[in-house]
Amino acid sequence: MSPSLLLAPPANAGPAEPFAGASRLELPAELLVPGASAVAIATLGLVALLFWARDRSRTDLLLYTFLASGLASYLLLGLGEGSAGAARAAAALGLLLPALAWLLLVRFLDLPLRKGRISLLALPALALPVVVALPAARALSAPAAAAALVLFGGAALLDLVRLRRPDAALLFAATALLLLSALFDVAVANGVLLPGERLPPLLGPAFLLFTALLLVAVADQGRRLLEKATTDALTGLPNRATFLERARRELERAQRNGSSLALAMLDVDHFKRFNDRYGHPAGDRVLKDAGRAVAGAVRGIDLAGRYGGEELVLLLVDVDAEAAVAAVERVRAAIAEVRLPHVPDAVTASAGVALHHGAFERCGVADLIRRADAALYRSKAEGRDRTTLEARGTERPTSPAEVRYR
Ligand code: GH3
Ligand code: MG
Ligand code: MG
Repeated sequence: MSPSLLLAPPANAGPAEPFAGASRLELPAELLVPGASAVAIATLGLVALLFWARDRSRTDLLLYTFLASGLASYLLLGLGEGSAGAARAAAALGLLLPALAWLLLVRFLDLPLRKGRISLLALPALALPVVVALPAARALSAPAAAAALVLFGGAALLDLVRLRRPDAALLFAATALLLLSALFDVAVANGVLLPGERLPPLLGPAFLLFTALLLVAVADQGRRLLEKATTDALTGLPNRATFLERARRELERAQRNGSSLALAMLDVDHFKRFNDRYGHPAGDRVLKDAGRAVAGAVRGIDLAGRYGGEELVLLLVDVDAEAAVAAVERVRAAIAEVRLPHVPDAVTASAGVALHHGAFERCGVADLIRRADAALYRSKAEGRDRTTLEARGTERPTSPAEVRYR
């Protein structure tokens, strides 16, 4: 990825005309692709920087460094054609950019930085002083960049082949494209391929495509992290924090609209005994299948979550007492239908339901949980495998005073 190979001097560059470019800006055709690439890379770099500012992820910082180095290499060439300092800097970047791109990929894929990978990274670091310090830096820059490309491009492709991730094929294609176009540029610029031809570098667009895909991968990773943070891993249901947050919003909406809702707590009966008898993994399987059954048994507008251990929680919107109890009974029946192979026993669940009457009533999710839990306790005390509605009136109140004194 030697930047010195990215920009070919204009093929028709004649003797300088002192006033030719004074009235309008003229960009040689050969500089169009790298110029546009430089602008686009700077924009992508800015996006990466915004990502980083949001959650201070080191991967985003690395992405920014990578994009900034890519941009620097383009600028260096635009400004420093012919200067020995620019050639040295370009040689250094040519060595470092492939390593940086590979390190970025390793971080994105969450691969461990073991000894093998660290020693691979040491190679350009060791070669760097030689390439930069030697007077022959200009001559060395192209072979060094090509070697770095092959080394890190190959390592990246190998890592991607071994990976089992949905976006691995996409990243493999992008990496292969980048590697091929970069090698093509190196070969053309050094007269190995198409001698005498002057072609605009392919690397700019491929580089962009690759970085854009990486940004997509960052966003995708963010989405997956969010999902992981809000979902209970065993049951696939929203976890407690997510449930409470959504329930709070639903309750606010109900209070605004004056509509009613119900909150139900469910607890698997004698689950400790089930675990003791059939083992913890079998208990896990039951919870997992129960989670799926519960998700299928509630309406799309209702909410189910795992409150903790073997306790599930439901939020049923726009229901009266009768409809709430019917919905909870449907969920309990779905749990009771869960069967494991070679396990003769099924589990039952007990439930407690608290009602929010909407109009005039002001209470928080915590109040509803406490009340549903008290009703659940009664279900347990009265023999389990049943649903108990909290011991308040089930009629809708007709005035605030009625709510207060009930
Ligand atoms: P009760 O009918 O009174 O609810 O009896 P119980 O045995 O279900 O109640 P208890 O609270 O004494 O025990 C709950 C059990 O649930 C104990 C714990 O091992 C089990 N449990 C909690 N979370 C999990 C889990 O994620 N997987 C499995 N396999 N078991 C769990
Ligand atoms: Mg319990
Ligand atoms: Mg229990």
